[in-house]
Amino acid sequence: MNILILGGGGREHALAWAIRQNPKCDRLIVAPGNAGIANVAECADLNILSRADVLEFAQENAIDFVVIGPEAPLAAGVSDALRDAGFLVFGPSQAAAQLEASKAFTKEICDACGAPTAAWARFTDAASAREYVTAQGAPIVVKADGLAAGKGVTVAETLQQAHEAIDAIFDGEFGEMSVVIEEFMAGEEASFFILCDGKDCLPIGTAQDHKRVGDGDTGPNTGGMGAYSPAPILTEALQDQVMAKIVRPTVAEMAARAMPFQGVLYAGLMIEGGRARLVEYNVRFGDPECQVLMMRLGGQVLDLLLACAEGRLAGMSVNWADDHALTVVMAAQGYPGRYRKGSVINGLNGLSESSFAMTFHAGTAGKDGQTIATGGRVLACTGRGSTLAEAHRRAYAQVDAIDWPEGFCRRDIGWRAL
Ligand code: AMP
Repeated sequence: MNILILGGGGREHALAWAIRQNPKCDRLIVAPGNAGIANVAECADLNILSRADVLEFAQENAIDFVVIGPEAPLAAGVSDALRDAGFLVFGPSQAAAQLEASKAFTKEICDACGAPTAAWARFTDAASAREYVTAQGAPIVVKADGLAAGKGVTVAETLQQAHEAIDAIFDGEFGEMSVVIEEFMAGEEASFFILCDGKDCLPIGTAQDHKRVGDGDTGPNTGGMGAYSPAPILTEALQDQVMAKIVRPTVAEMAARAMPFQGVLYAGLMIEGGRARLVEYNVRFGDPECQVLMMRLGGQVLDLLLACAEGRLAGMSVNWADDHALTVVMAAQGYPGRYRKGSVINGLNGLSESSFAMTFHAGTAGKDGQTIATGGRVLACTGRGSTLAEAHRRAYAQVDAIDWPEGFCRRDIGWRAL
């Protein structure tokens, strides 16, 4: 098969690395890719947000299967354009991608199918939103209703913070917006990944990530500084509960609304007292959660994604090894604030990479024979082992072998489970 992956981050490097291991994969192209992806696939310069450009590229290169990594092309309807032209695609339609793009849409779906989640209300003007939070009291959660690159959420500890967050949203910080106000949920967060083919669902793993930039979960939020899988808090019993009360009802509700969900549903859950509630859905793999999932699934992931795209999930199962994976993100100093691009990373060629240790590239490029950092989050050093401690040791061994003075990472990834 000729396979095209859209995206160029650590998530897509991990997908490409796993898919490449499957004998069904003949030619693998990643657009736009990055310096690490270039070691496992061809990289192509392509505007992945343009339906016309992606379609033309897929036709010219006789692509048999397209895997869409990030949310932006999904929200832009790239999967619809490809599917309408007869291509096999992994990733939801623009309509189904609203489960991530619109918080209010997701809340309506949850209410309609009875999935447990935080109580909520939506407002289109600041005065009514302010009045509502004043009546509810703090802590309370204020969310911009749209794709805000993970930055539109404020967990307000005081009413003043909540009012400021409401004002910022209506001042146009994230563009034209409405606001969703939610009850604050206490508990421990975990992520659950489920393949859905429009009617059937197949869980493919759990993970926990580390959002804060600093050791001990301190400092500002980031796109994610590390992750591990499985998440011990998501026991088999809890996974069954989430499938029965949240995921299957959501998938049925989406099908009933003539927008069947096909792709990976990434459920962000809040767990307290043996009970899970939905925080949010994403409609693609998380980054860096994808790195630990791919490390554990390996080459079979292509068969699973194909079954998902072809509506054959009912007959599929995951071939699980009793293993653990952990990934440590190396970021440019200054991230998530201002950081410099273009610093040189040494030591990458000397890494011994295998199915137990891989350094996935998130923001790198090749320049004059060297690898340079081109983003905030730059590398994801990933280890796998029969215990989490072993996976942790293998991940940090890679971190320690990389010579990049202008980078940093957290030293405590996995602390909660270790
Ligand atoms: P979201 O983009 O909706 O996932 O929100 C980002 C983060 O904000 C989540 O990962 C949670 O840590 C936190 N959060 C969102 N909604 C709530 C809520 N209702 N209660 C507590 N924390 C929340």
